[in-house]
Order: sequence, then structure tokens, then C-alpha cells
Amino acid sequence: MKMHLVSLGCVRNLVDSEVMLGMLAKAGWSTTQDPEKADIIIVNTCSFIESAINESIDTILELAKLKQISNCKKLIVTGCLPERFREEIVSALPEVDFFLGTGAFDEIVHVAAGGLTDISRCLLPDPNLASLQLRNVPKILSSPYIAYLKVAEGCDKGCTYCVIPKLRGRYRSRSFEDIIAEARSLILSGVKELILVAQDSTCYGKDLSSYVDLCVLIKSIANISQNVWVRILYGHPESITESFIKTVAIHGNICSYFDIPIQHASRSVLKKMGRKYSHDDLRRLIAKIRSLDPDAVIRTTVIVGFPGETDKEFQQLLEFIREIRFDHLGAFIYSDSKDLPSHKFSGHVSQSAAKKRYDLLMSNQAKISLENNRKRIGKVVKILVEKKEKNNIFSGRSAFQAPEIDGVIYINSDKLQAGCFAHVKITDALEYDLIGKAV
Ligand code: SF4
Repeated sequence: MKMHLVSLGCVRNLVDSEVMLGMLAKAGWSTTQDPEKADIIIVNTCSFIESAINESIDTILELAKLKQISNCKKLIVTGCLPERFREEIVSALPEVDFFLGTGAFDEIVHVAAGGLTDISRCLLPDPNLASLQLRNVPKILSSPYIAYLKVAEGCDKGCTYCVIPKLRGRYRSRSFEDIIAEARSLILSGVKELILVAQDSTCYGKDLSSYVDLCVLIKSIANISQNVWVRILYGHPESITESFIKTVAIHGNICSYFDIPIQHASRSVLKKMGRKYSHDDLRRLIAKIRSLDPDAVIRTTVIVGFPGETDKEFQQLLEFIREIRFDHLGAFIYSDSKDLPSHKFSGHVSQSAAKKRYDLLMSNQAKISLENNRKRIGKVVKILVEKKEKNNIFSGRSAFQAPEIDGVIYINSDKLQAGCFAHVKITDALEYDLIGKAV
């Protein structure tokens, strides 16, 4: 019995996809990259912003067409799209055989085997009831060398532009023991980089007994093997502590990589977003990180075109980006929707004005990124070789580059091997990528 899964959206969704594949494989299913050969097709969807919703629906309709002309017996849609739009999307997409919300991923084997036929094509339980991944649930990794470790689910923050608490429920940390057991088995399976993810990783443990927090967790994972990198994504400015910064700084195999989405820098916009910090707080936090960890690399994410954002407020954001000079920056144009508190705010910004602000901000960041990259020329860095591009060209990443979202390093060498660490001397710099030679 063959299965084909398309995983859309963020890496937290990717973990859910890997877990579903693992559970199905344990039940005897095998994966196929060719949807035409699959007996079941699963689309694990995203509905965070409008473009993600459109991508999910386009992918579903495309695969539904293919189902008509292939072996596929069942098209199953899971995740954030059915979770957000519930019965509305179930009736809008008759092509889909079954829908599973974010609280029902562990029903995938049942549905795939033709179970649950007594209920109406969808299972959408309260996401707060979703079981957190246990230690012995198998995963089929999407990369042999890196693995995402989900440490918690949900969020309690309630930012006015964000639908995630509605989709994923309140904040729940996975048990410390389950995460450590999974980390051990991933390292035994040959993984070279473990990436901790959650909606807000830096809140880990706040709902567990007092002795477990993120510092205890990352220290314990880092001590399993010094030959494995540990990276933490999705921090939050309100929950990054001095002890977290110091723990990252003193452990050689914990990447000095601080992923801190600030979303904006104007006091008035941050207030309307429901973010409880100011640009002065951010300035102090970033200065502390850079003083406690001189190797620190800081990534951030910002939103432009938030309802009511004036030219002056956008300028405050732009000046802050120019001042702080983030190593990596991603930007989104605000995506409006009736089910968001921010939808009711006045002064919605036109798409064309928001796009102009987005382009101006990203062209500024491209210059900063190139200047930062040029400072790396002549330096020798340790990289994880990930892929043989063509001929003797390999690509890899250093500890200052996260997968998929930051640039890579290209190396021309006949000695390298994917999945291994190597040392590279940086010889040239591009806006986002680097060129190097193996040393
Ligand atoms: S902290 Fe992140 S996940 Fe939580 S509500 Fe805010 S933007 Fe959404």
C-alpha cells in the first residue's frame, strides 16, 4: 500500500507530517514520491496567511484531479486549513475524502485504512486535546542529516494578527523525558543537526514542574553528543533570558543562532499587535546577546502594512533595521482575515503601499546581508555539508545559517561528502550565499 504526502507550511507542520508518515509506515504503508502511484494522498496544509491558504487549496485541487486518473483511492487533507475553516472547507471541497484537524493527526492510520466511515468526512477535535508526540512514535525524516524536534505545541500569547492559538491551542510543553529519548534515537540514526521548534521555543517548560526549562533541555541534548549541532528556532523577545543566552554561548555544539521574530519596532504598532515590548527593550536584549555571545547571529521576522501603520511608524521600523543590522531577516506583508482581532482596527494599508514598504525594507536588508557576508571572507568556518549540487560543487551550512531560510555556502571540492562536517575558508560573498574552499 503506497502513500504520498505533501507537507505545506512551516517546519512545525513538517514534524506533524513526518510523524504521520512514521505511524503509517509502522502500519505497513510505504512512501512513494510519485502521487500517481499512491493508494492514498495526504496534504498536510497551512492556513497562517492568505498566500498559504491559496497554496493549500491549489495543491488539493491539483491532486484531486490526479486522483481521478490514478490508483489513488483516498485524498486526505490534514492540519491547519480544515482546523481554521472547519465545516466551511469540508463542504467547499467535495473532492476530498477525509479531513483531519490539528487535534487528530494520530487518527491518520485509522482513516487511511478506511475507518471512521460512520462520521461525516471530517474529524476536528479541540486542538487542546491533541496528544503531544510521545517518545516512541516513529518519524520518517525529510532529511537524513537534520531533524526538527518539536518541544511544545500551541501558544498563549494572542498577538492580534495571529491565528495560531486558534489552530494549535494553548501552550503545552512536551515531556522532558520524551524529547531527550527522541533526541537520543535521532542521533543514533545519524542525524548531525537537531533543530528545536515550537510556536515559542523560549517558553519551553513554563507549564512543567519548576526544574525543567529550556536551558536544562538544551544542555541535556547538547551533552548527548558533542558531534551534533543543536539549534533553537522561534524564540520570543519576551521570553529570552540571560541564562538562555549564556547556555547557548558556553556550549560549543549549540549554534550561537538567535531566532527572534520582533514583528515591528514602532512602540504604537507593537502595542496594537499585542507585543509586550518596545524598541528600547529590543535594543537592550540584542546588545545583551551580542555582549554575552560574541559569535551570536540574530535572525528576525517583521510584518509591514499592519492596520494603521503610518509612514512614520514604518520609518521607525526601517531605521531600527538599519541600526541593528540583523544577520538574517524575513518580512511578511500583513495578511488580513475576518477571524483576526486586527481585522477590526482602522486604517488598513493598501496592498500596493504595503508592497512598496516590503520592497524598501528587503532591499535595505540585502545590502546589510552582503556587507555582513563580506566580513566573513578569509575566515575558516565549520560547515555541515548537505548536498552535492553538480560536478564537484557541494552546498552546506555553517552554524550561522539555518536550513531553508538562510543562505548556503558553495564549495568546489572532490573530497567532501554530504552529511559530514568540514572546514571551509570563505573566499567570496553574495547577498545571501557564500563561496568557500575546503581546508
Ligand atoms: S507568539 Fe507567535 S504563535 Fe503566538 S500568537 Fe504571537 S505570533 Fe502567533
